[in-house]
Amino acid sequence: MKQTLKDVEFEGKRVLVRVDFNVPIKDGVIKDDSRIKAAIPTIKYLIKNNAKIVLCSHLGKINHKDKEKTQADKKKNDMANVVDTLSSLLNKKVKFSQSVVGKEVEEMISSLKEQEVLLLQNTRYEEGEEKNSDELSLKMIKNIDAYVMDAFGSAHRKHASTYGVPLLLNKEKKETCVGFLVEKEVEALSKCVEASIHPYVAVLGGAKVSDKIKVIDGLLDKADKIIIGGAMAYTFLKAKGYEVGNSKVEEEQIEYAKSCLSKGKDKIVLPFDHVVADRLEEPTFVNVSMDENILEGYMGLDIGPRTIEKFSKELEGAKMVFWNGPLGAFENKLFSQGTKKIAQKITSLKDCFSVVGGGDSAAACKECGLESKFSHVSTGGGASLEMIENDGHLPGIDVIVDRM
Ligand code: ADP
Ligand code: MG
Repeated sequence: MKQTLKDVEFEGKRVLVRVDFNVPIKDGVIKDDSRIKAAIPTIKYLIKNNAKIVLCSHLGKINHKDKEKTQADKKKNDMANVVDTLSSLLNKKVKFSQSVVGKEVEEMISSLKEQEVLLLQNTRYEEGEEKNSDELSLKMIKNIDAYVMDAFGSAHRKHASTYGVPLLLNKEKKETCVGFLVEKEVEALSKCVEASIHPYVAVLGGAKVSDKIKVIDGLLDKADKIIIGGAMAYTFLKAKGYEVGNSKVEEEQIEYAKSCLSKGKDKIVLPFDHVVADRLEEPTFVNVSMDENILEGYMGLDIGPRTIEKFSKELEGAKMVFWNGPLGAFENKLFSQGTKKIAQKITSLKDCFSVVGGGDSAAACKECGLESKFSHVSTGGGASLEMIENDGHLPGIDVIVDRM
C-alpha cells in the first residue's frame, strides 16, 4: 500500500504534483479535457489543505534532435494552452511558468502563497525529462517540500518528473504520496491483475500487436478467454494460415502470434468474418467477407456480424472484462459497428466488473455514450497494459514510499 494524500500533512508546504495533462490539442484548442478533469479532486484537496501547489506534466512529443523541429514541437505543445481550461475547472486563477526549471521558477515557487496554484511548462521542454536526468531532477526539487504522483497515464515511464524527482525526495526524507486518481486507477486495475474474479474475459483490439504483445502473455495465465479483434486480429489470422489480403499485419510478430495460439489453444478467440473494403480512406467498395479469409486487394476494417454474435456469446456470463483497443477502424461509421456492439454487450452484462484501457477505446466508449456504464475507464492506455504485464508494478508508483 502506497502513502496517499490522507497520510500527509500539507499545511503550508510547497507540493509538486505530477499530473497528466497530456491532452489532445489542435490549433491551440483542447479537444478532450477528461485528463484535466481527472486531476481536479487531488488539486482541490490540496487547496483545501492550504498547500502551495506546483503542477507539472508532459504534453505531446518534443523532438530534441533537430533544432527546427524542437521549436515547432514546443510551439504546438506549449502548456500555456492548458491554463484557461484548468482555471475554469478549478474556478480559480492559475499562475503559469514559461519554463520547467531555473531561477525564475524557483522564485515563483518560493513566493507562492497557501492555496495558490502554479502550472509549470511542459516537462518535455527539458531534454533531461525522458532521459531521467539527475541534473534535471535536482533542479526540479528546488524549493519543493513534498511530491504527489497523480499522473497514472505516465506512471509506466521512468522519466525525471515521474521517477527521478520522487526518488530524490525520498532520499531527502521529504514526503511522497499518490493522488486520488492514481489510487482509483490502481484499485480498479489491481482486480484485473490479480484475476480474482471469474469468468474473466479480455477483449483486445486496436492497431499494434507489438505494443500489446506482452500483455497477451500475461493474460494467458489470468483470463479465461482472450477475444482478439481490430487490426491486431490479422497478424493472428495470418499466423493460422488464412488469407488476409491487404489488412494490417505485423509480419515480424507472426512467430509470436503462433506461440500465443499454441499456448492459449482454447482461450484465444478470433474473428470469423470481417467488414472489408478496398481502402480505409474514402473506400469505394465495402462488403462482408464469407469467412475468415480476405481476398487480395481488400482489407479487413471491422469484425463482421457473425463475429459480433460469436464474441457476444463468449462474453455472456463474464464477471470481469478488461478491454483494450477498438475492434475496428471505428473513426469511420462504416467500420464502427463491431466496437459499438461489443461495448454495448460488455456494459449490459449483469454484475460484471468492466475496465476499459486505451485512449482510442475510451474515446469510442464516449462516442457510444457508454462511458459511465463501465465500472472503470482508465486514463492510461500504456500504463494499464504495463500494469497487467508487470503483475501490478509501475515504476512511477513503485517509487512512492509505502504507507507506515
Ligand atoms: P487504444 O488507444 O485504445 O490503445 P490503439 O491505439 O491500439 O487503441 O488502436 C486504435 C486504432 O486502431 C484506431 O485508430 C483504429 O482505427 C485502429 N484500428 C482498429 N481496427 C483496425 C483495422 N481492422 N484496420 C485498421 N485500423 C484499425
Ligand atoms: Mg491509441
